[in-house]
Amino acid sequence: MKHSFTPISIENFIKSFIKDNPKEDPKELRKRLQEALKDYKNGETCDCGNKIWVIGSACVGNGCFTCITGEGCPDDDYEIEGALS
Ligand SMILES: [Zn+2]
Repeated sequence: MKHSFTPISIENFIKSFIKDNPKEDPKELRKRLQEALKDYKNGETCDCGNKIWVIGSACVGNGCFTCITGEGCPDDDYEIEGALS
């Protein structure tokens, strides 16, 4: 079973996200991604104790992949490069 994120840079994620969501403000999105990444690096965790998923957290508020998506593990879902250590 595959159990990993596909790494993506903030810039590339914003480009692909804006293509699918043209109403989103890229500056605002970048700010939210950077804040979520900072929280991740500060050791912020989800209510369940898992590390936060930066991309999902930037969209809906801090949480881990499982709590945000309801899926057990990532399946080619993106995560920001800096949050994959
Ligand atoms: Zn969680």
